[in-house]
Amino acid sequence: MIGLPKDIVTVSELKKYFFTRQGTVRAVDTVSFSVKEGETFGLVGESGSGKTTVAHTLVGIYKPTAGNVFYKNQNMSVVAQKRPMTLKQDIRIVFQDPGSSLNPRWSIKQALSVPLKVHRVQSSNNDRLERTKELLRMVELPPEEYLYKYPQAMGGGEKQMVAIARALASDPSFVILDEPTSALDVSVQAKIISLLIRLQKKLKLTYLFITHDLSLMRNTADRVAIMYLGKISEVASATEFFQKPLHPYTKMLLSSIPVVTEEEEVLKPKKVISKGEIPSPVNLPTGCSFHLRCPEKIDICPKIDPPMAEAEEGHLVRCHLFQS
Ligand code: SF4
Repeated sequence: MIGLPKDIVTVSELKKYFFTRQGTVRAVDTVSFSVKEGETFGLVGESGSGKTTVAHTLVGIYKPTAGNVFYKNQNMSVVAQKRPMTLKQDIRIVFQDPGSSLNPRWSIKQALSVPLKVHRVQSSNNDRLERTKELLRMVELPPEEYLYKYPQAMGGGEKQMVAIARALASDPSFVILDEPTSALDVSVQAKIISLLIRLQKKLKLTYLFITHDLSLMRNTADRVAIMYLGKISEVASATEFFQKPLHPYTKMLLSSIPVVTEEEEVLKPKKVISKGEIPSPVNLPTGCSFHLRCPEKIDICPKIDPPMAEAEEGHLVRCHLFQS
């Protein structure tokens, strides 16, 4: 019997607060989810929802205020400098803006060989050169053309391909994609997404895909989680998510994304008009943090924050309308 995929990452009651002069920003507030080996887990939210803070806490840029993050049963709730090298090699991130994540003074050969040196993947100069060429081929950039180029002589899509190659240099299992296409022209976004899908299959990678673009998740993610003001409001398989969304916020997001097929049009929720602005994360409303914008709110909503509940198998929702 073939076993079910194992959880590779488990995030448990994670909190990341920032203490500012204006007050405490609860950027991530008691977030729990797990990512299964080999899947693409989409973490979707508007700007300020906390999704990037989750990503940065996972790679050790931030130390959690509370809660735990486990990777293959190892607790990694410490900053990157204190993590064992094997963990740093196995978990890599691709940032949103390839322009600022590549050093303009380094050629592509340097950009790719430095992580090989840092992670001690290849010891000799010759081995590093061969691996650098292999990495460029993996992301479909001919080495003879790109090895000695500098980032400023390349387009946004090509730079992101190099950033992906750099993330793959240490042969990771888990890659966090932090809005990998949002800084790119629409014309190259599809190319980068197809490349990521091909690489995932070939290298058996697990992805945590952070994005504000819910429509991107339809054909990319296996499961999707929605974040709103530091909390996860809904988690479901991508199929269930697009066919049967439950949370009013998810319905609002889905009602405003473009659809391609007639079938998608039928499934798309009726247009939901958002009633207000997103509240400040320093001054969150009481009860459900979505109640000021929610078209379906009931009396209890401004008073009590609903817990996450399983509405159907594997379909979790944080809303008073779905508490059993
Ligand atoms: Fe709307 Fe109430 Fe559900 Fe919050 S708990 S999403 S306010 S119905």
